[in-house]
Amino acid sequence: MTLTLTRSDIAAIRARLQLKGQAFIDGRFVDAASGATFANISPRDGQVIAQVASCDAEDVDRAVRAARRAFEAGVWRDQSPKARKKVLQRFAALFEAHMDELAVLETLDMGKPITESRTIDVNVVLDTLQWYAECPDKLYDEIAPTGPGQLGMITREPIGVVAAVVPWNFPMLMAAWKLAPALATGNSVILKPAEQSPLTALRLAELAAEAGIPDGVFNVLPGFGPTAGKALGLHMDVDCVAFTGSGEVGKLFLQYAGQSNMKRVYLECGGKSPNIILDDVPELRIAAERAATAICFNQGEVCVAPSRLILSEKIQDQFLDIVVETARAIHPGDPLDPDTRLGALVESGHRDRVEGYIAKGQAEGARLVLGGARPETNLAGYYVNPTIFADVKNSMAIAQEEIFGPVLSTITVKDDEEAVRVANDTSYGLAAAVWTRDLSRAHKMARKLRAGTVWVNCYDHGDVTVPFGGFKQSGNGRDKSLHALDKYTELKTTWIEL
Ligand code: NAD
Repeated sequence: MTLTLTRSDIAAIRARLQLKGQAFIDGRFVDAASGATFANISPRDGQVIAQVASCDAEDVDRAVRAARRAFEAGVWRDQSPKARKKVLQRFAALFEAHMDELAVLETLDMGKPITESRTIDVNVVLDTLQWYAECPDKLYDEIAPTGPGQLGMITREPIGVVAAVVPWNFPMLMAAWKLAPALATGNSVILKPAEQSPLTALRLAELAAEAGIPDGVFNVLPGFGPTAGKALGLHMDVDCVAFTGSGEVGKLFLQYAGQSNMKRVYLECGGKSPNIILDDVPELRIAAERAATAICFNQGEVCVAPSRLILSEKIQDQFLDIVVETARAIHPGDPLDPDTRLGALVESGHRDRVEGYIAKGQAEGARLVLGGARPETNLAGYYVNPTIFADVKNSMAIAQEEIFGPVLSTITVKDDEEAVRVANDTSYGLAAAVWTRDLSRAHKMARKLRAGTVWVNCYDHGDVTVPFGGFKQSGNGRDKSLHALDKYTELKTTWIEL
């Protein structure tokens, strides 16, 4: 298996692709009950690539009934842990065998560079599927330290029907972070991909069925938020919603739960992550290049994007010069070209939104030092240039609101105290980074930063073994690691008088 794909590999894979647009309910591909479909547009060239089922409340009800039936029948949760492990391992192996195809499908559907989807996305998904596949027969329950006359057993049970509602920026990855731990713990899952990126989710369902996941245990409902998403949020027989997306929609899910059955709602929402560069930054060039490449990664459509560069005034000029020089060399291009490092934004409305922020930054008085204009391309897709602002005040919209594009806001600070104050002055708390040679300084900063992940002398590193999620309005609950299992299980106390 190759790690990077050549142009001819990509052309051959594209020629073989079978784009499936039907919903996957109870082990079968089916049309939406209403027969409605929507056009799935590729952001690389604005062309329609598939017609996809537009699911609504009736389809949600069908899927929930199938998921509940499978759960109550115990076809999955009552299999021995070892048997479930074997099926999940087979799912991971089938995924691995189709990674080239899935990488192309993801790029076609949402516009990220093929080299990123092939070297990052599918590998992280594989790691996630493999890691949680190993869990079922390694999780032990607890006995409480009661008196000698009692036995207090604390056991974990699957929560039941889990709805995973995910965004378009890492469609497969966000889905895997939810469905792998939910399936490992014996639940039934209904996955609702974002309307912009439904194709890989549907392919995952097909592979899961081929691996032996029983009918009804894993369902995929493509459709829109206000129809399919809302119906899942309001359904009386969904036990848990695991959501990744915007804070605005995250808050709606909290309301849906309050209006229905108080289902558990776990949210992974946005961020405005600070990347703090102190005056003793080790390897200044590496840190500056990373600041530039990390804001361009996935077109900046990354919840942990280092969108606020917080720079010590002592090194600001030297540092910013390298950031600008690095970003200037990153040109947007066809995401299916293996040389492309910056792909297309997911849809035309999103490009308008990003360009709106670029205009707002200038209107608010920030200094545009790179980008701003729309790139010239011969593709009718949705491209923007890397854009960098200097002299940004943390109160400006470009420093407070999530832009979700390759747009960097640089804020200068005098000392560590001001750096922490500015870093924490946001409604978000997903991630932060600090670059310094001084270990004590790094530890002190890390303790004060209100974020779910703090990186020291790196950006966006980690793996499935560590939890991921946010403080404040970046969400609640955690994806990845054994901590993710808490979301998909209920604790039961069985108290026995001996
Ligand atoms: P979004 O909130 O618009 O959509 C996310 C999902 O919610 C989609 O499946 C969508 O169809 C659904 N949805 C939309 N409106 C709905 C409604 N009224 N009721 C029910 N469901 C609805 O987000 P997006 O634009 O797809 O993704 C971008 C956002 O996701 C950004 O804010 C980004 O920071 C966030 N994100 C967070 C993380 C994280 O782990 N914290 C990771 C990736 C993306």
